[in-house]
Amino acid sequence: MTAVQPKTTLPSVEETFDSLSPATDEVVGTYPVHTAADVRATVDAAREAAVWWAGLGFDGRAERLRRWKGVIARRLPQLCQVVRDETGKPIADAQLESVLAIEHIAWAGKHARKILGRQRRSAGLLMSNQAATVEYQPLGVVGVIGPWNYPVFTPLGSIAYALAAGNAVVFKPSEYTPGVGKWLVDAFNEVVPEQPVLQLITGFGETGAALVTSGVGKIAFTGSTATGKRIMAAAADTLTPVIIEAGGKDAVLVDADADLDAAADATVWGAFSNSGQTCIGVERVYVHERVHDAFVAKVVEKSRDVRAGSDEAAQYGPVTMPSQLAVIKRHITGALASGGRALVGGVDAVGDRYVQPTVLVDVPEDAEAVQEETFGPTVTIAKVRDMDEAVEKANDTRYGLGSTVFSKARGMELAGRLRSGMTSINAPLSFAGIASLPFGGVGDSGFGRIHGPEGLREFARPKSIARQRFTAPIALTTFQRKEKTDALVAKLITVLHGKR
Ligand code: NAD
Repeated sequence: MTAVQPKTTLPSVEETFDSLSPATDEVVGTYPVHTAADVRATVDAAREAAVWWAGLGFDGRAERLRRWKGVIARRLPQLCQVVRDETGKPIADAQLESVLAIEHIAWAGKHARKILGRQRRSAGLLMSNQAATVEYQPLGVVGVIGPWNYPVFTPLGSIAYALAAGNAVVFKPSEYTPGVGKWLVDAFNEVVPEQPVLQLITGFGETGAALVTSGVGKIAFTGSTATGKRIMAAAADTLTPVIIEAGGKDAVLVDADADLDAAADATVWGAFSNSGQTCIGVERVYVHERVHDAFVAKVVEKSRDVRAGSDEAAQYGPVTMPSQLAVIKRHITGALASGGRALVGGVDAVGDRYVQPTVLVDVPEDAEAVQEETFGPTVTIAKVRDMDEAVEKANDTRYGLGSTVFSKARGMELAGRLRSGMTSINAPLSFAGIASLPFGGVGDSGFGRIHGPEGLREFARPKSIARQRFTAPIALTTFQRKEKTDALVAKLITVLHGKR
């Protein structure tokens, strides 16, 4: 990729940090630790760029987004290698998340005008002399703080929609994947060389915290619930609005009439792919008692073909964040100590870099392995007497991000009863790949939505305009109003709304 000129003159940066390959500990890049002053300078430059970018209009921005996705699509192998270097995930998985992200850029650019452009609203009978319209204006500068687990798909779910809505973006990727962040920003700056519309800042939590209090129009955060709470508290000081896309403890429900092969396949892939480091990954399964044993047997059989490693044949790679190994181990140990059994894997599955698949049964519902986000390649499977019990248990969590239902007859009904922001029926995680569907959670999984029309509106403020078309026969908003008028209005409102 051709080098892109820096768009802002940041004060000289002294401190740097290394990005390491989780597979080899090799240094794959070195990046600045941006200070609060750097962040302020970046946001100041973004404010000016935002005015220019908003001035391009929907069509001008759509054209630049179209070119950006073209660059990403043409250089996909290069991007996938950067993702692999920094996360250790297989190239095929890096490609999958990048392909979905490209779809989102395309969707956001194409639909922004229709969703955010000026729309007419009915003024109602009493105000029928008015023409009412609403339009969605950009917020200015949006700060995006991202995680490392899907370093392309996740931040672009906010960035693409914020840009399409007419905002400039300052992006702080995870300290584990700064190289992926830089690659994406450089690619954008190739097609938007005029102004620093999308800028990168790198560093640790302190750099992210400086972005939160920098006076941006909104913060779109994706990461852990604990950090999300800290960000929300810090943002309160300046009344900066936030979107929080946080952790999950997603459940799969398997009904008595489900396609068990498909359900087992979805469970194994949903639980183990990306080493279980997926916010909408499968962590719990509730299975109807009539099919429980057959389902468990299929999951066990399919799990035996899945292996973590760094070789080409391995289905998933290392645990990216070394500190997570202790959490995974604690959840498995706790599950086994409280009466659970490991049908595949177990405590020994947790190595010092790689974690092999672990399938747990008979784990009490109050165990950490059932209640807390494990973020590792483990899954608990529990037998339920009917689907009411399955819904009740699936909902008995402080999280509520995604969920999955396998059922032939009752898919829609069960999906509607699950307390989660998104549910897929008879396939795993499919909602995430549908650009028109909003993505986000409830409870400790956060609030606000990225993707789809709702995701565009998150990055815009509604502007209402009422334009008087002609003088009203009954003038209401004047001291000249007569008693006769008030009597007429009272009569009118009784006719309109007073029916018993
Ligand atoms: P994390 O919370 O540790 O870090 C996320 C980002 O926040 C990083 O860029 C980090 O530098 C920054 N940060 C840390 N402290 C900060 C502070 N005080 N102020 C501002 N920024 C700060 O999360 P992680 O380990 O990178 O990601 C894993 C988590 O993300 C999991 O819980 C996973 O479920 C969640 N996740 C959620 C979604 C979703 O869409 N809901 C998607 C992917 C990942």
